[in-house]
Amino acid sequence: MRRLVLIGGGHAHVHVLKAIGDALDPTVSVTLVTPVERQVYSGMLPGFVAGHYALEDCGIDLIRLAERARALVVRSSASLVNPAMREVICANGEVVPYDVLSIDVGSRAFTGRVKGVEEHAVVIRPLERFVEGWEKVLARARQGGMNSVSVVGGGAAGLELAFAVENRLRRESGGEAPHVRVLTDARTVVPEYPAAARGRLLRLASRRNIGTHGGSPVTEVGPGYLRLRDAIEFATDATLWVTGAAAPALFRDSGLQTDDRGFLAVNDFMQSLSHPEVFGAGDCATNLANPRPKAGVFAVRAGPALAANLVAAMKGGPLERFVPSPRYLALISCGGRYAVGLYGGLSFEGRWAWRWKDRIDRGFVARYSAKALAASR
Ligand SMILES: Cc1cc2nc3c(=O)[nH]c(=O)nc-3n(C[C@H](O)[C@H](O)[C@H](O)COP(=O)(O)OP(=O)(O)OC[C@H]3O[C@@H](n4cnc5c(N)ncnc54)[C@H](O)[C@@H]3O)c2cc1C
Repeated sequence: MRRLVLIGGGHAHVHVLKAIGDALDPTVSVTLVTPVERQVYSGMLPGFVAGHYALEDCGIDLIRLAERARALVVRSSASLVNPAMREVICANGEVVPYDVLSIDVGSRAFTGRVKGVEEHAVVIRPLERFVEGWEKVLARARQGGMNSVSVVGGGAAGLELAFAVENRLRRESGGEAPHVRVLTDARTVVPEYPAAARGRLLRLASRRNIGTHGGSPVTEVGPGYLRLRDAIEFATDATLWVTGAAAPALFRDSGLQTDDRGFLAVNDFMQSLSHPEVFGAGDCATNLANPRPKAGVFAVRAGPALAANLVAAMKGGPLERFVPSPRYLALISCGGRYAVGLYGGLSFEGRWAWRWKDRIDRGFVARYSAKALAASR
């Protein structure tokens, strides 16, 4: 029996799980290694924080997808891959052998050497832990006495969460929201965006009294304060840590080739450069010849080609090249069912942009619902 092992239930693997059951014959065993039964869809997380969605609206049931793929589930995190023995070693001690391995474990938040982050901040990943942390912040805010919230990280996700937090806490408090600020070590928030799109976001932030502070990294998070490298200190009643993508620890000791930041190095077919029987997609992998930003949209786009390549690798057959266009649509919700969007150099905003995002996001989650799985049999 040939063995296919999937690590992580990320955006590409949910498609693989949906597609692969029908494509592989029963002599192939499929195993999914996942620490969670439900994948929280990050695109809808700001909407959950803002109170537009219940958590159930944003979740993809990995167990149902695994059933669809006739996959065994190992409820644990993969700690190490031993490519010489072709084994995955899990945190619960299980060892899972493979012939073909696919990894879609996302990234982790970059915390560097900043003191106190794990103890005093709500860190964005794992998303399930962030959800728990946010619910505690919300409960504290409801008791009153919360004057300020800091979001560390000035990328699109940090900014989007800052809007969501401000909107939710203002509505919860009947008008008097705590002051929300965004801190970034970059010169400005979303420095990679065209000036027009950034201008729109900054104007909306200023209208909501959301402060933005650039140019100095946070060096310490404590109970009730944040310290920056240039010695400025802010009082803060809650700190959300939403810094950019860092490589997952999994690759560090695995002997798989990585890029210079520690992400799995892959080719145009999503194969590891050092071990072709290992595939990687989404944030955790970098195509060295054709790198793309670490964004969910690329993990989603990878799904169909990854599924086809895993089937080809199991059965024998030609692999499909996956080199997505670097252009992509970004829609950033700005609190109250209003969004700013950009595509290439073009930017726009409005309630209609939020409704567009809402339709795309709900549509993605719905693709993996019980109803959609039953209909696609
Ligand atoms: C608030 C927020 C909003 C965002 N909005 C957007 C957006 O609108 N558009 C966009 O393009 N991008 C967005 N992003 C970025 C997007 O979240 C990531 O690029 C995307 O999640 C990457 O998908 P992935 O499949 O690589 O991994 P993930 O979606 O992170 O999934 C990885 C899975 O692997 C599991 N896992 C992790 N480690 C292990 C392990 N060791 N063993 C087994 N399983 C493991 C995790 O539990 C998780 O289920 C947003 C990010 C945030 C934080």
